[in-house]
Amino acid sequence: MDSEDIRLLIDTLADRIIAASDELTALDQAIGDGDHGINMKRGFEAVKADAQTMAAGDLPAALHKLGMTLVMKVGGASGPLYGTLFMALAKAMPPDPDRAQATSALASAIAAVKARGKSEVGQKTMLDVLDPVHRALTAGADAEALRSAAREAAKATIPLKATRGRASFLGERSIGHMDPGARSSEIMVGAVLDALEQRS
Ligand code: ADP
Ligand code: MG
Repeated sequence: MDSEDIRLLIDTLADRIIAASDELTALDQAIGDGDHGINMKRGFEAVKADAQTMAAGDLPAALHKLGMTLVMKVGGASGPLYGTLFMALAKAMPPDPDRAQATSALASAIAAVKARGKSEVGQKTMLDVLDPVHRALTAGADAEALRSAAREAAKATIPLKATRGRASFLGERSIGHMDPGARSSEIMVGAVLDALEQRS
């Protein structure tokens, strides 16, 4: 990926998350402390401010800087976790990944989030979108199928009872609401796919 592609990727990610800030905050108001949209917006505004420098190097360097920025600026539980996701992607991603390489980098990144969050799939978190998207990638899904896998996976967190993160304090009362981090992950997956599609 050249600098222009990386820039498009970063800007698309940032713009989509910033645009969804109110929605993410509303989701977090239902089962958390109502800061997810604000946290993510703060992080991605910092990413946007630094996008040109970030895109000047190769893809792994950009992913690493993006992850560092999220750790420093997002805060909450999601900052360190999304930071870990992007930094682990950076470690495993070659500068010009093919599909198999991107898929395996995502697997490493999901493993890193699980280790960092002491969490597993099924606990009503971002992992409940990231993991199904990885499985769809492995199964050969095209962009449209990946988008719908992410959308369905985020929706499928609604009936789950949270057993990790702040929402777990609500116990049964966490049932019936979409997990905010699952939704932000869905949005990021969509942003990446759109940016990659715009490129080719
Ligand atoms: P906080 O919960 O500290 O207020 P945010 O509101 O920014 O942080 O982020 C909440 C989101 O973080 C949740 O919706 C969930 O998807 C994700 N999350 C929280 N804890 C974990 C964890 N241990 N593992 C994976 N994801 C988690
Ligand atoms: Mg919160």
